[in-house]
Amino acid sequence: MEMVQKLDAMAPEVRAKVMEKYRALCTCPVCPAYTHCMKKKEEKLFCSTGKTSCSIMKKACLCPNCPVTSMMALKFGYYCASGSEKQHRNM
Ligand code: SF4
Ligand code: SF4
Repeated sequence: MEMVQKLDAMAPEVRAKVMEKYRALCTCPVCPAYTHCMKKKEEKLFCSTGKTSCSIMKKACLCPNCPVTSMMALKFGYYCASGSEKQHRNM
């Protein structure tokens, strides 16, 4: 089972701990596409949470080099613009 599916099978409190860890590792805040609006709203970890509610400029996504990509076996990127990994996979 892939990590994206494993997360769904976890107890809520365990999943919350894992998400907290991923959130801390997320490299979105240093991405050229990361905006003041996202920072103000404390938005990141878009691979899990989905699209930003802020306006965006798609540029130089750092997701491919983010540790969460290998930990979660993520296949996409630009999650802030195009939705979460699960949305990409129609899960
Ligand atoms: S999802 Fe990708 S493009 Fe969007 S802020 Fe994060 S690293 Fe940057
Ligand atoms: S893969 Fe992208 S959206 Fe997900 S934690 Fe890493 S930088 Fe953030």
